[in-house]
Amino acid sequence: MSNTVYTFGGGASQQDSRARDKTVVGGKGANLAEMASIGLPVPPGFTITTEVCTSYLADGGFDDGLRSTVAAALAHIEGVVGKRFGNPADPLLVSVRSGARVSMPGMMDTVLNLGLNDETVQGLAAVSGDERFAWDSYRRFIQMYSDVVLGLDHGLFEEALEIAKEDNGFHADVEMGAEHWKALVAEYKSIAQQELGKPFPQDVHEQLWGAIGAVFDSWDSDRAKVYRRLNDIPGDWGTAVNVQAMVFGNMGDTSATGVAFTRDPANGDKAYFGEWLVNAQGEDVVAGIRTPQYLTRAAKEAAGAKQPSMEEAMPEAYAELAEVFELLERHYRDMQDIEFTVERGKLWMLQTRSGKRTAKAALKMAVDMVAEGLIDEETAILRVDPMALDQLLHPALDPDAPRDVLTKGLPASPGAASGAIVLEADIAEQRAARGENVILVRVETSPEDIHGMHAAKGVLTARGGMTSHAAVVARGMGRPCVSGASQVSIDLKTRTLQVGQRQLKEGDLITLDGSKGEVMAGEVPVVEPELAGDFAHLMEWADRYRRMKVRTNAETPEDCRKARQFGAEGIGLCRTEHMFFDESRITSVRQMILAEDEQGRRAALAKLLPEQRADFHAIFEVMTGLPVTIRLLDPPLHEFLPHGDAEFEELADVTGLGVDHLKRRAGELHEFNPMLGHRGCRLGITYPEIYEMQVRAIFEAACDVAAASGNSPIPEVMIPLVATQRELAILKQLVDRVAGEIFREKGRTLEYLVGTMIELPRAALMAGEIAQEAAFFSFGTNDLTQTTLGVSRDDAGRFLVQYVEKGIFPRDPFVSLDIEGVGQLVALGAERGRATRPALKLGICGEHGGDPASIAFCEEQQLDYVSASPYRVPIARLAAAQAALRAKQG
Ligand code: PEP
Ligand code: MG
Repeated sequence: MSNTVYTFGGGASQQDSRARDKTVVGGKGANLAEMASIGLPVPPGFTITTEVCTSYLADGGFDDGLRSTVAAALAHIEGVVGKRFGNPADPLLVSVRSGARVSMPGMMDTVLNLGLNDETVQGLAAVSGDERFAWDSYRRFIQMYSDVVLGLDHGLFEEALEIAKEDNGFHADVEMGAEHWKALVAEYKSIAQQELGKPFPQDVHEQLWGAIGAVFDSWDSDRAKVYRRLNDIPGDWGTAVNVQAMVFGNMGDTSATGVAFTRDPANGDKAYFGEWLVNAQGEDVVAGIRTPQYLTRAAKEAAGAKQPSMEEAMPEAYAELAEVFELLERHYRDMQDIEFTVERGKLWMLQTRSGKRTAKAALKMAVDMVAEGLIDEETAILRVDPMALDQLLHPALDPDAPRDVLTKGLPASPGAASGAIVLEADIAEQRAARGENVILVRVETSPEDIHGMHAAKGVLTARGGMTSHAAVVARGMGRPCVSGASQVSIDLKTRTLQVGQRQLKEGDLITLDGSKGEVMAGEVPVVEPELAGDFAHLMEWADRYRRMKVRTNAETPEDCRKARQFGAEGIGLCRTEHMFFDESRITSVRQMILAEDEQGRRAALAKLLPEQRADFHAIFEVMTGLPVTIRLLDPPLHEFLPHGDAEFEELADVTGLGVDHLKRRAGELHEFNPMLGHRGCRLGITYPEIYEMQVRAIFEAACDVAAASGNSPIPEVMIPLVATQRELAILKQLVDRVAGEIFREKGRTLEYLVGTMIELPRAALMAGEIAQEAAFFSFGTNDLTQTTLGVSRDDAGRFLVQYVEKGIFPRDPFVSLDIEGVGQLVALGAERGRATRPALKLGICGEHGGDPASIAFCEEQQLDYVSASPYRVPIARLAAAQAALRAKQG
């Protein structure tokens, strides 16, 4: 046997393992060979390898040797079936189908009923005893071949069919008789003649080679290319071609065709699920020309359908099919998606593959199959896509409800919510306090909108990418968010919203689907998540196999509680700035930053101390016994400046300073590029009293909680945006000094750590030196991505989509770590840090800590933990377990 073509079916089993290797013969070919080898009824056929496809596409033609190899393989089919290809008396007909390594549904081409011509159609009619069937098959063939191989407009053929039906007063294809199909065949042939300037090919071998070439060519069709790009499928894989003896589901009422799943792909129930049609070919089920019938009696009765189920109408073929389902599940140890045909009572299997499923079904099947002894826990863990859990953790839109989609933006934070449009955070808070569901709609959000985002059920912004403020904060809070919806324009004067051609006003109802990025008019009903049962089981297994710890990014007691429920093992990032924007404090914060001198700042900070202490107290109470990483103040002072006269006047009242004076001072603090300005540890270096206040609040609260509960939290004080060892040395000394003071005051000491974020390229490069001062590193990959790429995380939304479409980045680097580039800095930072301090604790707290591909990279780098927003904690637990298992399996 050659290594370019592999035969299957007819009882002869293939010894060469390449015959069942998806990379060689494609998914369809591998599974056909596999089914044939376990004794299932598979029509005989052969597969031309993907390797032939790639060399065909590269050379623009077929190798000389291929013709004789294909002829031998065709002889194999003829031998098994007992018919000859092109024999006018009793012809063999074949199907020619594509089949890549992974299924690309509908993306490539198929030709059925190949081998029919003006002579063989007579033979088919005679042997089948069914003239109508023979001529229907011939017209289907001409139609399909003309479209797929000859490139003729299929509209011409459809139009001719419609006219034929109309002329005869028919509504459906099934009403057409042999003479009608015969007339249509003549019509089709004359269309082909007219379009091609030559007759429709009558030579069956010419037909076969035409179809093989067309299937190979379809690998490079526009739609296949788009599909590959969207699904990360390499362009050099190529497709295999499967040539297989035709079996017919359209040979009268004892024939049928269908599609089935061995379990319910929507909810995972262990119940056969599928559709079938009597007297039809597979394309009829797919094309939806006729409404298919239910497979099982139970499903038919549940749906109140009238047409008989296959179980009732064809009990023998159904019983055989049910046996095949069981056999296939035991063989593949997974739910299968099957195509079958019944030809005059005899069952034939045309395809099997692992079936696509919803997240809910994936979870249920994985857990059930462990209980059934079909798979082990490790396989179950690897079988569920961590990102799919997102669908389960948030309320989701009812999939059956109609949607009036207004526009699309980025799917920034998953989940669904409906509510009245509000255009300002304060109004969101007021209306929510009255019990109303609101959606906050802003051009973009700033930290000042936090209270409004919290009060709202969802957030929509016209600008911003996946790590814009709105996106990060909304994910942290578990609020659905659509960001960067550039068709949305807001008019604050008229309190209206223009979305494309449609106008909405404040108070109108809209619905967000944060998982898809869709914005809909009106209210769409939602369904609530279910966290017990299968979900809990799978998570428990995942925890047994993972090596990395999973922490959370959270700064309110509610978020901390939620994260603990989701299994967080500590806090990896508590962003203290959000506490500063609270309405009751912002005035003191502004007073502090606009003060002329240290004394003025200290006076304002004294007012903030008790509030900040209370914040930490509440968090420590929830997190007793667990590490809590608290980051000292990070954002640019610029962000805290007052806006508008009202805010300046309010501040003037509190401080006793004139509005003009305050405005001048604010002008001095204005920055052109605040993200690279007076922020992070630079605040601690220039205004040490700010960090002193925060450190005092942390340790006073920790000592109080330890005294009250007997179980102290473990504070990890984290310094942001460090670039040099000296910065960290100065600030570590500050932390140690203040902590020492408090321990003396309180009469107790606590275990604590001081460490830093690695979020600047220089910090990664100098990690060896910086580690001399740091007990831990937490990779702040949001800023590290921003500073390494020189791409603003707040503005990237405008162009990154195109960057991804053009393949410049495989994915949005703010969503999935740029492993090639930014990843090098992470690896280098980890390596150099550990060289200095072997016990250095390493974690990640950028948004990438909740992204499975980035988590796999963290496992490779042997980080100690990942930290993700509360709703991503379960995703991270599962992804960390998968990464550990894959590492173990090599
Ligand atoms: C980071 O930069 O990755 C980080 C976690 O900090 P922030 O997002 O608050 O800048
Ligand atoms: Mg940062």
